[in-house]
Amino acid sequence: MAEPRETPEPDRPELGDLDPEAFRLHGHRVIDWIADYLEGLEDRPVREPTEPGETAAKVPDRPPADPEPMEAILDDLDRVVVPGMTHWAHPRFLAWFASSGSAPGVFAEALSAAFNVNGMTWLAAPAANELEEVAVDWLRQMVGLPEVFWGIVNEGASLNSVLGLAAAREAAGVEVRERGLAGREDLPRLVVYASEHAHSSIDKAAITLGFGTEGLRKIPVDDAFRMIPDALEEAIAEDKSAGRIPVCAVGTVGTTSTTSIDPIEEIAPICEREGIWLHVDAAYGGAAAVVPERRDVLAGCEQADSVIVNPHKWLFVPIDLSVLFTRRPGVLRHAFSLVPEYLRDARGETVENRMDYGITLGRRFRALKLWFVIRAFGAAGLADRVRDHLDLAGELAGWIDAHPRFERLAPTPLSVVCFRAVPPELEGDRAALNDYNERLLEAIDADGEFFLTHTRIEGRFAIRVAVNGLRTRAPHVREAWRAIRETERGIAG
Ligand code: PLP
Repeated sequence: MAEPRETPEPDRPELGDLDPEAFRLHGHRVIDWIADYLEGLEDRPVREPTEPGETAAKVPDRPPADPEPMEAILDDLDRVVVPGMTHWAHPRFLAWFASSGSAPGVFAEALSAAFNVNGMTWLAAPAANELEEVAVDWLRQMVGLPEVFWGIVNEGASLNSVLGLAAAREAAGVEVRERGLAGREDLPRLVVYASEHAHSSIDKAAITLGFGTEGLRKIPVDDAFRMIPDALEEAIAEDKSAGRIPVCAVGTVGTTSTTSIDPIEEIAPICEREGIWLHVDAAYGGAAAVVPERRDVLAGCEQADSVIVNPHKWLFVPIDLSVLFTRRPGVLRHAFSLVPEYLRDARGETVENRMDYGITLGRRFRALKLWFVIRAFGAAGLADRVRDHLDLAGELAGWIDAHPRFERLAPTPLSVVCFRAVPPELEGDRAALNDYNERLLEAIDADGEFFLTHTRIEGRFAIRVAVNGLRTRAPHVREAWRAIRETERGIAG
């Protein structure tokens, strides 16, 4: 047999990656570009004036056959990408929940891509798995959940709710893992309960897991948009007497519309009595518990079976990173663990393989950014930032309450303010007020100085200001209030 030939060979091109010198050169340029981008954000509109199709039209619809120089690719950040962007990192981005990354998170994302490990098993990425365990446990301590809670990082709260509800289904003992749902005459309808204000991801989890939209009962809320525990209890009793099987109650800490906080302390004993799983979606609101004097937001969650906190929503970890905590990891594991031969590890139970706790096999090294962000800001630094947001939202709520032409449409327990303009001439005319506020929001957003979004609360169109971006500080909130008032005066004519 011939000896392997020496390379390179004249007839075989150089393959592989950029060479290290090119990497260094362009890498420096990328870091400089990011620094300039973040530094210059205040001078840009929050939402670039782009129309559907505009970005795609700037690039060829066929892939380049030949290599393009990195210089040309990076030049297109300014020519193609930025003009089509809604800048979530912008300090005047006050829309939805204003998820924002941070410099330590940016560094970690780049490093995670460089390692490019697949953390499916301990062996595949020992450091990634162990640091995930550590960083998640730090977060547990920071939000004040008891030590019995174990946690795992996934991409988002939507997936984590699917996992939480799948564990609930497993705990119900109806053998869905083995026997499935279809074609089973022995199995009555399984029921999940959530408030009318729960996030649509709970509906999607119910659809995904075979509860169906008819298996998700929406429980009414009180006048602060919190689930009414008595109504939950009644619904469970009704379902049981009709032969249905209650499986899980979902409480929300920080609902998407108004940030209302379900009374978990009252819901937990009901779940305990009924023997059903309690899943808490604290995707946004859980972050407030890093502020020691606001630990109360998670009151009762120590009794929950699973709790979601999304550091990518309000703890300055770049999208995507959501943590699912559970006090019953064995149940989650039983729902999903399945080890093909090629992933078997002789270490057996002595190591934890995170593929056993969910649907996806592959998992990227997300925890690096959580670890970096917690270290770079410290628990106290994160608490100070979140506290500042809570204070600023409280101030804005006060200004709105004191103004005769505006009213709040919901309490402000966290850092989102829901309000509308109420010009006296439209008083009592719901349709006209909705139309007026829709026009007001459009006008506020029109010039790109600020970006606010809306919700509808009991049929009333509400403008939402979300104060949870890392770079959003007091002057931005003051300026937003000025812009809101001036714009309202403008449209009032
Ligand atoms: N839960 C709540 C309360 C939310 O507000 C959202 C999104 O805003 C989600 C869940 C879904 O989060 P994710 O985008 O991480 O799936």
